[in-house]
Amino acid sequence: MQSAVAPRTQLAGAQGRRAALPASVPRRSARAAAATPTARKLCLAARAHASPFRDNSPATATTMDSRLADSPPATPAPPAEPRTKSRVVVLGSGWGAVAFIKNVDPRMFGEDGPYELVLVSPRNYMLYTPLLPSAVGGVVSENSIVESIRSLMHDKGRYYEARATGIDPASRTLTCVKQFCEVCAARMDNGADVVHTDVDHTFTVPYDVLLCSVGAVSATFGIPGVYEHCWFLKSMEDAQKLRKHIGKALEQAALPDVTPEQRKKMLSFVVVGGGPTGVELAAELHDLMTEDVAREMPHILDDVSITLVDGLDSLLNSFHAEIQTYAGEVFNRSGINLRLGCKVTAVHVGKIEVQRKDGSADVVPFGTCVWATGIAMHPLVAALQAQLPAEVQGSRRGLLVDPNLRVMGSQGTIFCLGDAAVTGATTKTALPPTAQVARQQGEYLAALFSHHRLGLQEQPEPATGDLVPLPAGAKPFQYLHLGSLAYLGNQKGVMDLPFKTPFLKTLRGYLGGQTWRTLETFMQISPRTRWMVFMDWVRAAMFGRNVSDI
Ligand SMILES: Cc1cc2nc3c(=O)[nH]c(=O)nc-3n(C[C@H](O)[C@H](O)[C@H](O)COP(=O)(O)OP(=O)(O)OC[C@H]3O[C@@H](n4cnc5c(N)ncnc54)[C@H](O)[C@@H]3O)c2cc1C
Repeated sequence: MQSAVAPRTQLAGAQGRRAALPASVPRRSARAAAATPTARKLCLAARAHASPFRDNSPATATTMDSRLADSPPATPAPPAEPRTKSRVVVLGSGWGAVAFIKNVDPRMFGEDGPYELVLVSPRNYMLYTPLLPSAVGGVVSENSIVESIRSLMHDKGRYYEARATGIDPASRTLTCVKQFCEVCAARMDNGADVVHTDVDHTFTVPYDVLLCSVGAVSATFGIPGVYEHCWFLKSMEDAQKLRKHIGKALEQAALPDVTPEQRKKMLSFVVVGGGPTGVELAAELHDLMTEDVAREMPHILDDVSITLVDGLDSLLNSFHAEIQTYAGEVFNRSGINLRLGCKVTAVHVGKIEVQRKDGSADVVPFGTCVWATGIAMHPLVAALQAQLPAEVQGSRRGLLVDPNLRVMGSQGTIFCLGDAAVTGATTKTALPPTAQVARQQGEYLAALFSHHRLGLQEQPEPATGDLVPLPAGAKPFQYLHLGSLAYLGNQKGVMDLPFKTPFLKTLRGYLGGQTWRTLETFMQISPRTRWMVFMDWVRAAMFGRNVSDI
């Protein structure tokens, strides 16, 4: 976001003019009109600089937002030059997309290379998701687990901060929207003369080959009340909001006129989902309470409760059976209440309804409920799937891909990776939706595009019907499982080893905890984040977490 704040002297004038505007002027046009002439010039100049209109490439068509209709006419675009390169468009800036960007040979996207690269994502950073629960607990700081997408791309291509809202496989075009910044809108509503350089606008991006790595969304399974009353943990925004909310709940519970019953309710933290995310969040909450809240606010500690609810009978169901049992034991010893074999049927204000295995119903009260149960198909992916031949697509989890990660029915023009892709014919052979899979798929595609020239043909290949034929000798993607890790709190962790020997199948306890911490540091996105995460562990060990609700 680029913005500039006009000098105070301009502020009064701007406010005065805003008050005089006729009621019929639309709200955001009013904002633009309210800016001083100097500020407005700044705004337009900056817009021209920041906008994808700057992309003079004939392949990018843009549609100007209606709010800019009163701006001076744009300089006519230079005449279109014939395109000689294949345009590879990557959607997303998460695990799959970044593994591709980082590993692809830069020479292929240089001046003499066969490709030009465009990356579109509403998030201009890569987020290291495995440490999101630690960010909620406050042991690592949010800045330490994100890396700027621009620094990761270097000069390999262009990046547009926008959300793709549609994919048209017939014309090979994306529709993208850059949304107006709500933060600046709110500041302007409060009278600040913020000159905003971002405006909502829609533009289209054509592609020859598309790499779709938009991930997935949180699954609610249609259970009523989940969206309304639960917190989620999928993005950095989720983690920030949840962390702030927990801080506020602690402070509210410490107020003088709160009754013991109210305090107990406010300090009841319920996590739904016994997979790695739910388990690690419960573990981080446990550490926060027993280490830092115990030190800073000991008088409320006795009223804190952490409960984990899951429909299955054990935690960490995708891990080795030994680990499942061990995780349950650690949680029981830590005082985390386990409500296993309980399916959530509805969520209401302050309570969830569950159904036990024997069919009986129960209620779990909460002050804070976090929903961490799994993932569902991204709406963009669902819309694309609906446009592809039904006989080759039809999975409810995502886009079915062939062994080379090409979306079935897309004539080789779309590749899909990560959580949005479904590999294998059955649920049993499908790869799990993990960062490890997405990363390896991104690396595989980087090698494929670096070693071969994939290009769009005018006519489909007679034998396969592909518009982007697979190069001869292209090997299929092969996944190598490197093991699974989870943190259980109290310095303990588990690792499901990728190799099994009769004596050693898993790592558990303190050794598991240290392995988890070392690998989560080592696997960071960049040297900068590796250093920052390492320093965060040191800081937390020396000074504890910051329990303020900033
Ligand atoms: C809290 C948490 C902890 C996890 N822990 C682990 C772990 O320990 N180990 C592990 O292996 N996996 C873990 N995972 C799972 C892992 O994060 C995912 O499997 C992985 O992120 C999938 O990668 P991806 O590239 O498919 O999608 P993501 O990494 O989710 O990236 C999706 C990208 O697409 C962008 N995007 C979304 N919509 C659009 C759109 N309309 N247009 C353009 N771009 C769009 C997003 O902004 C984002 O940049 C965890 C997940 C969470 C939420």
